[in-house]
Amino acid sequence: MTALAPALEKTPLETYVAPDKPSLVGMTRAELSDKLGEIGVPERERKMRVQQLWHWLHFRGVTDFDRMTSVSKDLRGKLAQAFTLDRPEVVAEQISSDGTRKWLLRLPSGLRGERPHEVECVYIPETDRGTLCVSSQVGCTLNCSFCHTGTQRLVRNLPAAEIVGQIVGARDRLGDWPDMERARGPGLPTEGERFVSNIVMMGMGEPLYNFEAVRDGLHVASDGEGISISKRRITLSTSGVVPNIHRAGAEIGTMLAISLHAVRDDLRDELVPLNRKYPIAELLDACRNYPGVSNARRITFEYVMLKGVNDSLAEAKELVRLLKGIPAKINLIPFNPWPGSRYECSDWEQIEKFSEVVFNAGYASPVRTPRGRDILAACGQLKSETEKLSARERMALRAMAMTD
Ligand code: SAH
Ligand code: SF4
Repeated sequence: MTALAPALEKTPLETYVAPDKPSLVGMTRAELSDKLGEIGVPERERKMRVQQLWHWLHFRGVTDFDRMTSVSKDLRGKLAQAFTLDRPEVVAEQISSDGTRKWLLRLPSGLRGERPHEVECVYIPETDRGTLCVSSQVGCTLNCSFCHTGTQRLVRNLPAAEIVGQIVGARDRLGDWPDMERARGPGLPTEGERFVSNIVMMGMGEPLYNFEAVRDGLHVASDGEGISISKRRITLSTSGVVPNIHRAGAEIGTMLAISLHAVRDDLRDELVPLNRKYPIAELLDACRNYPGVSNARRITFEYVMLKGVNDSLAEAKELVRLLKGIPAKINLIPFNPWPGSRYECSDWEQIEKFSEVVFNAGYASPVRTPRGRDILAACGQLKSETEKLSARERMALRAMAMTD
């Protein structure tokens, strides 16, 4: 009898159920318009009202309906009765000496009486930018063998508002709204326009298996009259959901990162089992045809360094050969072990040699020193739910530290 291969994709255990009094934070214009309809705002007024709300919600980041001074008192009252301005609740915060901040965020559970869900969100300040790592799912649809999130069940997809809620929540913590006092602290820039200037969809989950919510959420995040983070400063990372890659370029239009991790199908089948459905050649074809790809808008290829598994110099050369003709950047990610993981991180010497081959082929700084090491070490201090995410989060930090 042959053993059944593990399922390629998981089905969610829950769907999102909005709280009785939903929050307007992070909603799209269309959703806001519907909500206004629900409280009796006539159709002809809705566009103008949405415009007003948009400004207060996503440009100013207000937390109180009474501060929406351009909205009539009567409507403010009705809004407050039916809705909230809640953000995902921050249940834990860790701040590294280099300024990296990690928040554990609580989201409502769809099942009454079940524990609320938690996702982590990480902020990395650098001299010329501040990058926020955002999650798209609680758990993940897929099961990559080196990823801790992959070993967990998929709890549910995040709706667009919760994807944006992570950005709004981070801006609150940092004082990153026009009328707020900016946070101060180690590593945080004292000047400059915004703390959160870049977004990477590299938290928990596979963004292209929550396509509509990620698309809508990123449109809210990049809207020039609101949060206003340009699409060129947003990177969506995928394990290779080929049918949605073209769609992502056409309908979302952000920068793209591909979790490649292997140069041969037999090995990639093992590391990223989705490869059995969409093998390397198809994945690279989709990259060649990614709308808008050019030397100025390169695709990032992520390659996790696994000792004795994918880190030979022959593989480095093959990586360079495979990517020929695709406007690409390469990020070598040191593997972050987690309890029970069957891999080890490549030796630093080997990472350097591998990186040299890639560098000599014309790819700039394929590997950089990871950030936020001190708070990573403290990950295990958080409670059980969090521990499940800590390896995942460590990965996110490193991946982000290398995004240029
Ligand atoms: N699901 C998406 C985005 C989230 S994962 C994707 O897979 O692309 C973000 C990046 O972290 C991916 O490149 C992923 O392969 C990598 N990663 C996952 N676990 C890791 C680990 N333990 N060490 C290093 N990188 C890891
Ligand atoms: Fe999911 Fe990405 Fe982890 Fe794979 S690497 S299991 S796609 S989060």
